[in-house]
Amino acid sequence: MRNSGFKILTEALTGNKGWKANWRQPTPKSAYDVIIVGAGGHGLATAYYLAKEFDITNVAVLEKGWIGSGNVGRNTTIIRSNYMLPGNEPFYEWSMKLWEGLEQDLNYNVMVSQRGILNLFHNDPQRDTFIRRGNAMRLAGADAVLLDREDVQKMCPFFDFNSSRFPIKGGLLQPRGGTVRHDAVAWGYARKGDELGVDILQNCEVQSFMIEGGVCKGVETTKGSIKAKKVAVCVAGSSGRVMAMAGIRVPIESHVMQAFVSEALKPVIPGVVTFGAGHFYVSQSDKGGLVFGGDIDGYNSYAQRGNLPVVEDVCEGGMAIMPMIGRARILRMWGGTVDMSMDGSPFIDKTHIEGLYFNGGWCYGGFKATPASGWCYAHLLANEKPHEVASEFRLDRFSRGHIIDEKGMGAQPNLH
Ligand SMILES: Cc1cc2nc3c(=O)[nH]c(=O)nc-3n(C[C@H](O)[C@H](O)[C@H](O)COP(=O)(O)OP(=O)(O)OC[C@H]3O[C@@H](n4cnc5c(N)ncnc54)[C@H](O)[C@@H]3O)c2cc1C
Repeated sequence: MRNSGFKILTEALTGNKGWKANWRQPTPKSAYDVIIVGAGGHGLATAYYLAKEFDITNVAVLEKGWIGSGNVGRNTTIIRSNYMLPGNEPFYEWSMKLWEGLEQDLNYNVMVSQRGILNLFHNDPQRDTFIRRGNAMRLAGADAVLLDREDVQKMCPFFDFNSSRFPIKGGLLQPRGGTVRHDAVAWGYARKGDELGVDILQNCEVQSFMIEGGVCKGVETTKGSIKAKKVAVCVAGSSGRVMAMAGIRVPIESHVMQAFVSEALKPVIPGVVTFGAGHFYVSQSDKGGLVFGGDIDGYNSYAQRGNLPVVEDVCEGGMAIMPMIGRARILRMWGGTVDMSMDGSPFIDKTHIEGLYFNGGWCYGGFKATPASGWCYAHLLANEKPHEVASEFRLDRFSRGHIIDEKGMGAQPNLH
């Protein structure tokens, strides 16, 4: 079923009786070529690119809940490719290019809105670091513009430029950054994957792996045993728990991350803005709510709800750059479980168990990676070798000393 203006008009005139479900509710087959565990954005994108780019359509995506119940439907929707290190930047820039063509590719309105992302800086050393990052981005083909205080003042006159503690001295702008409607991404990939023959199995939790003689031959689920030639784990915040079922300890901690939406305001924030002296970022939704967030909750947890000290900390960050936010009321808030890797960078790799693959460690920045992650994971599954833009995302990089620590913070998840 194609979405088109003509289809909408026809349905409107004929009582909307011709719409079909966006994806089927199939019964699991006994075996597949590839099973993907986790129908978040990354799992669904992997299935879609497997079918579309690599002609592998005997694929099932197994989801313990429903599509969009994980982080893909809980994030703050920001996309950007403002990374610095060679292991990361080409990957995220490629993801950005895929976002730019995604709506046409999926024939689905995922509301890609390239309204720009502005990272504020508050002192001279920070400006120098941002110049370095901007140059690295431009060398990798991304866009980056350094703004001084006056430039930022024109964009956001309501910021507190005279704060004695955190004076705003300028910012690094990526004009092509922005936001995408998060759950629509899951629905778009699901619909197109289903169209190409992928089985999406909701309420089908993987409870163990069938591993015989060092080879993974399938999974045991709440809907019975399902065999597969390849099993691709893609469960974000549940990475540690699921990989433990295969006896593998991944260098990942799970933490809660919270998001907040204010009551609707008139348009005020031009794009996405991040505070440079603390962890706070904000954008404004099309309905007018300020969508914002900050740091992860400090302790390890699998609960999808957060604690109040972080709420206070996030709101303080907001107040520090725009005191007028103090008059807005918070309408709703929620938490998601993020898979924080020890260097802040992800994994797309094979494991030592034949037929078992792993994608995870996306921390609080994996939404923007969704298209490239799906493509690169599909590439690995189809060709048994990493895609060139994801070649550094290996599980053994800590033992080799080749960590990808974008911020140079070491093994401290809350600082990445
Ligand atoms: C509050 C918050 C804000 C964020 N903001 C941003 C942002 O602005 N920009 C950005 O780029 N990133 C952001 N992120 C991070 C981003 O959302 C994640 O990195 C990304 O969504 C993770 O990939 P996913 O979509 O595949 O994960 P998920 O949607 O979590 O998918 C994993 C799926 O696996 C399923 N699963 C788990 N265990 C099993 C099992 N045993 N069997 C079957 N299924 C299983 C889960 O139910 C889940 O649906 C944010 C995250 C949070 C929580």
